[in-house]
Amino acid sequence: MCIFCQIINKEIDSEVIYEDDEIIAFNDIAPKAKTHVLIVPRKHIETIKDLKTEEGDNALVGKMVAVAQKIGKEKNLEGYQLTFNVGKSAGQIVFHIHLHLISNG
Ligand code: AMP
Ligand code: ZN
Repeated sequence: MCIFCQIINKEIDSEVIYEDDEIIAFNDIAPKAKTHVLIVPRKHIETIKDLKTEEGDNALVGKMVAVAQKIGKEKNLEGYQLTFNVGKSAGQIVFHIHLHLISNG
């Protein structure tokens, strides 16, 4: 099972800051800025390249962005970066899709 599925199943500890029936968000273990949150769907999808419209995956990605917006608002962030690394050559190391929310305020 992948590391994010283990976090989702609570087999590995993480600092969860948001969760619902489809999405979990937790602090990145190696933060690149003051705020570095990973927004992750419970469904295991390896990369953005593997999204399946017919399974509702595009709507799921929309929900991930909505969670990012909510966290940005709650943390009162003026600005933030939202990033998907797609594929090994782009720096993806965990093959379970996740949206990075990175901000210094
Ligand atoms: P990516 O390079 O887009 O695949 O990003 C994976 C991210 O997951 C990196 O920023 C890692 O620091 C982070 N990460 C890896 N393991 C954990 C963990 N156990 N808990 C929280 N974040 C993690
Ligand atoms: Zn997974």
